[in-house]
Amino acid sequence: NSSVTLSLRLIPYSENLWLLVARDVSRLLHLEQMRRDFVANVSHELRTPLTVVHGYLDMLDPEEHPDWAPMLAEMQRQSQRMTQLVEDLLTLSRLESQGSLPEEESVAMSAMLNTLAREANALSQGRHQVTVEDTAGVDLWGGHKELHSAFSNLVSNAIRYTPAGGSVHIRFRREGPGAVLEVSDTGYGIPAHHLPRLTERFYRVSTSRSRESGGTGLGLAICKHVLNLHQARLLVTSEVGRGSTFSCQFGAERVRPREALEVLP
Ligand code: ADP
Repeated sequence: NSSVTLSLRLIPYSENLWLLVARDVSRLLHLEQMRRDFVANVSHELRTPLTVVHGYLDMLDPEEHPDWAPMLAEMQRQSQRMTQLVEDLLTLSRLESQGSLPEEESVAMSAMLNTLAREANALSQGRHQVTVEDTAGVDLWGGHKELHSAFSNLVSNAIRYTPAGGSVHIRFRREGPGAVLEVSDTGYGIPAHHLPRLTERFYRVSTSRSRESGGTGLGLAICKHVLNLHQARLLVTSEVGRGSTFSCQFGAERVRPREALEVLP
């Protein structure tokens, strides 16, 4: 196979002259593909041994071995974390290799918001005030599973990066012909110079805080990829010490009338 991929750039040179710069990026694309395949294969291979370790750990009863209890608890926590990391890596590889969504459907947003609020409350365990506001009155057209994973990453971040006593607001609203799903928190906030890099894999504002909070470092990368597949944008505004707002902006082509629920007598 001798196909070549060229990257072309047109650069203004003088008043009526342009330069066309062609760069052979075939090798770069090939390396990128190798990187993706490698990550996908390693993650896949790690799945089985992890399931076994996790399974046996679950069988050890800390009451039978009281001396081991703290070590067992820590091993369980870490193996849970590793499992989540592997699952997130697989999700990300799948999203990266997909040029389009495998399945598109009308995604019922009131049910979605209820699910997100339930997840937020479960994660918060009563330490935050979680509120939901739904003024859009429409649904979204896209991948149900993918959208849920994008939104739930934002919600889980909002809870994890907001100290106890703070609040998290999940809002779905119209904006022009499109619609926006917004997650705001009153948490730590993010210094402005970090914002452009937040969606890079494993990019973290504070490594220790993120580790402690139990994240994998892949949440926003997953969110960004999901939104790309929906031709949607992720916007963030944040103020240190006051909180952050992450908004997913969907275009008119993603908006669908909400199906009216018939109330039976
Ligand atoms: P992680 O698993 O580390 O949370 P993410 O990709 O979800 O990974 O987020 C990347 C980084 O962005 C986090 O480590 C954190 O520093 C920062 N971040 C994300 N969401 C928030 C938020 N709501 N408030 C403050 N910082 C956030």
